[in-house]
Amino acid sequence: MNQSAAPVITVVGGGFAGTALVLQLRRQPALAQAEIHLIEPRAVPGPGLAYTARRPEYLLNVRPGALSLYPEQPQHFAAWLQQQPESAAGVPEFASRSAYGRYLHEELAQVLQPSASQLGVVWHATRAVAAPS
Ligand SMILES: Cc1cc2nc3c(=O)[nH]c(=O)nc-3n(C[C@H](O)[C@H](O)[C@H](O)COP(=O)(O)OP(=O)(O)OC[C@H]3O[C@@H](n4cnc5c(N)ncnc54)[C@H](O)[C@@H]3O)c2cc1C
Repeated sequence: MNQSAAPVITVVGGGFAGTALVLQLRRQPALAQAEIHLIEPRAVPGPGLAYTARRPEYLLNVRPGALSLYPEQPQHFAAWLQQQPESAAGVPEFASRSAYGRYLHEELAQVLQPSASQLGVVWHATRAVAAPS
C-alpha cells in the first residue's frame, strides 16, 4: 500500500446518518486531502426515508433546538428554520419532517464536490451492491 496516498472513504446511504457523517468528516483537518464518496440512490440526497416526507402536516417529534447537525452550534437548525417561509407567522414548536429534509439536503449540498478540481464529497446516485472484502 502507498502510505502517502490520501485516504479514500466511502459512505453508503445519504440519509440522516450518512449526511451527518460526511459533514463531520469533511471538517476534520486530518482528512483535508481525503477523497470522500457518498452513495445514495434517491434523487435528492440528505433527507433519507424519514425526511423525504412531502406533507407539511407530518411533524418531527423533537424540538428544533435538539436537531442541529453541528454539536458546537446547537441552534443551527433553529436559526435555519427561522428563515424559512413556514416560520413567517412564528417558528413552529415542532417543524415538519419535510423542512428538516430540506435542511439536511441544503447542508449536504454545500460540501458536494462543485468540480473535479475541488475537494468535496462525490455523490454517486446509485445503490451500493457489494463491498470489497
Ligand atoms: C416515517 C418516519 C418518521 C420518523 N420521524 C422521526 C422524527 O420525527 N424524529 C426522529 O428523531 N426520528 C424520526 N425517525 C427516525 C429516523 O429514521 C432517524 O432519525 C434517521 O432518519 C435515520 O437515519 P438513517 O441515516 O439511519 O436512515 P435513512 O435516513 O433512512 O437513510 C438511509 C439511506 O440509505 C439509502 N440506501 C439504502 N440502501 C442503499 C444501498 N444499497 N446503497 C446506497 N444507499 C442505500 C436510502 O436511500 C436512505 O436514503 C422517523 C423514521 C420514519 C421511518
